[in-house]
Amino acid sequence: MVYAPVETEDREELRAIQEERLRETVEHAYENVPFYRERLEEAGVEPSDIESLDDITKLPMTTKEDFRDEYPDGLFAVDDEEIARLHASSGTTGKPKIVSYTDDDLDVWSEVVARSLKAGGVNPGDTVQNAYGYGLFTGGLGLHYGVEELGATVIPIGSGGTQRQVELMTDLESDALSCTPSYALYLAETAEEMGYDPQELPISTIIFGAEPCTEPMREEIEERLDVNGIDIYGLSEIIGPGVSNECHEAQDGLHIWEDHFYPEVVDPQTGEPVEEGEEGELVLTTLTKEALPVLRYRTGDLTTLNYDECECGRTMVRMDNVTGRADDLLIVRGVNLYPSEIEHVVLEIDGVAPHYRIDLHKEGTLDVMELTIEKAEEFDGDDEELRDQIMTRLENVLQFTPDELELVDHGGVARTEVGKVQRVYDHRE
Ligand SMILES: [Zn+2]
Repeated sequence: MVYAPVETEDREELRAIQEERLRETVEHAYENVPFYRERLEEAGVEPSDIESLDDITKLPMTTKEDFRDEYPDGLFAVDDEEIARLHASSGTTGKPKIVSYTDDDLDVWSEVVARSLKAGGVNPGDTVQNAYGYGLFTGGLGLHYGVEELGATVIPIGSGGTQRQVELMTDLESDALSCTPSYALYLAETAEEMGYDPQELPISTIIFGAEPCTEPMREEIEERLDVNGIDIYGLSEIIGPGVSNECHEAQDGLHIWEDHFYPEVVDPQTGEPVEEGEEGELVLTTLTKEALPVLRYRTGDLTTLNYDECECGRTMVRMDNVTGRADDLLIVRGVNLYPSEIEHVVLEIDGVAPHYRIDLHKEGTLDVMELTIEKAEEFDGDDEELRDQIMTRLENVLQFTPDELELVDHGGVARTEVGKVQRVYDHRE
């Protein structure tokens, strides 16, 4: 069962909807955002040149830097009176990106989150404990209104206060939890310390977002808490969480709500579209946004698109679970590495806990990588053997080994209770 009938729309029909909405969006951006008018003029493109979806490649791309340069409201397309809400994305450096919504935008957002939850196996009548941070961050309120739209009950607990989370979860019999993957693990540990069996907690679904989650990490969480771990994807620049979501039937890629967000995948270096099914950078165009229409936004997220039929019956394209951001790419002694690749290899080894950190230093002109990995609590084997196993696996799979590998006991890697987990510490700058 789907939330909105359009989720199973015939793809030809869907394409017609997308084309009409793309034309309207380009027109709207051109008429109301000087930034886009200039960009299009520079590219020699007029809105009337965009007739079909294939014409989208004529449009210039929008980047994070554009949001920064146009701070705070240079990309807004409506008058202040029409703006119902503002949010800001967590900028790790400099100014945040400010994003805005009209009433209609908020309705769309609630709907796509409701679709996402439903796809993830959450049903009307369920109780969802929302452990995303409330406030300027889009995670908290985005999920909140989606739960209400679905007809489920939301517990707006927000992030942190983990003991209270566990108690309320038990007392109120929460069916689902929304949080980051790292927080799910933290909650499991806390519950254990409090004397609960994490597998006995009432939740059966966790909606993961805001952080990448590799497959071994997901399996670990699913096992420890006896839940379905479902990936939700989104970004503030486009709308917030709810751009795409995994269906619980297949759990094999995230359905993009294509009637609102048009996806392309391009080569991160050249910006040219890649062949269907090839990995590249996800580029998204909003098709219905009023306050902040965004044309061809370079997300920095690496994924592939899969147009095969899905067993759940939804016809909307699936994107691969994002485990790498173009921004996260580490270049260590000339080798390109994503932290998620290291995580993937390491977490498949028995005896390793899903907690690690990567430290990068310079010794003279040389890059030095130090990898710290926590041993599983129940591990009682030989450290040297475990170390050899990790190094061999890394060498075999990635043709790369860290300069130093430190194994630490349970709790040896700091946990994150609030916000996104940080795993890479680059001290080279
Ligand atoms: Zn599906």
